[in-house]
Amino acid sequence: MSESEGRPALYDGPNLDKEDAVLRVDGLHKAFGGLVAVDDASFAVERGSITGLIGPNGAGKSTIFNLVSGFYEPDAGTVTVNGTDVTGAEPHEVADEGLIRTFQTPRKLEGMTVREAMLVGPQRQPGESFVKLFTSPDEVEAAETRNIEDAQRMLEQFEIDHLATQPATDLSGGQLKLVELARAMLAEPEVLLLDEPVAGVNPTLANALREHIARLNEEGVTLCIIEHDMEFIMNLADPIVVLDRGSVLVEGTPEEVRTDQRVVDAYLGGPGE
Ligand code: ADP
Ligand code: MG
Repeated sequence: MSESEGRPALYDGPNLDKEDAVLRVDGLHKAFGGLVAVDDASFAVERGSITGLIGPNGAGKSTIFNLVSGFYEPDAGTVTVNGTDVTGAEPHEVADEGLIRTFQTPRKLEGMTVREAMLVGPQRQPGESFVKLFTSPDEVEAAETRNIEDAQRMLEQFEIDHLATQPATDLSGGQLKLVELARAMLAEPEVLLLDEPVAGVNPTLANALREHIARLNEEGVTLCIIEHDMEFIMNLADPIVVLDRGSVLVEGTPEEVRTDQRVVDAYLGGPGE
């Protein structure tokens, strides 16, 4: 019954043979001036999985998230979400297909309370709302009330509702990561990309984040997580995709990846070595 039965524990390059891939990246390429950040990267994320994306600093991990989520346009290659080609689409269009991402460095939230911060985001801005403000103000008000209630419920789910009226700038790094996660969930994503969710987060909050991520996965959300903290990612994700110099080096179980000599060498070599 186990789906991984009969499958190698380690692949040279990515395992593209996924039964039901919610995300597929094929031959992705991105250069900044002369610097090639992503070089023929391909991988697939199985629906229902927690897929880890690791690799040394500068390997191109965050750039891949930017390409997948529509923040950057690839020079070559394709991105498919739920079977729909979203290559070159705008972030809100990719979000409409069910893919939402968080940022390695949380966005600036100056002058906002946590509650207000929860209410901004590409997923919460229907194009016609400005016109509706004049044509059906009651409808707009009802939608606003609903959004506030949804935000409150989400803050409670993530056990940060006590922070709702605090200035967002007063939060610790870990609390901000929780707010980012809660806000991302307001869009009801099918697949959530998290870029270093526990970077700079204290162990207590890192543990809370781990539990929330596991809960979301049990509730049916597919996750693809970039993380530098090996202990954290190896305990949470399977499979692990290892990126090196812009392309996928190997993919496999945490146990196999952890001890693979090529992976060890990639981390020791660092970028450009
Ligand atoms: P990782 O997340 O794996 O640490 P990144 O994707 O952030 O790596 O970066 C990959 C490479 O691309 C790095 O050399 C980085 O300096 C470069 N890079 C990333 N974003 C930009 C950008 N917007 N402009 C120029 N270079 C960039
Ligand atoms: Mg990064």
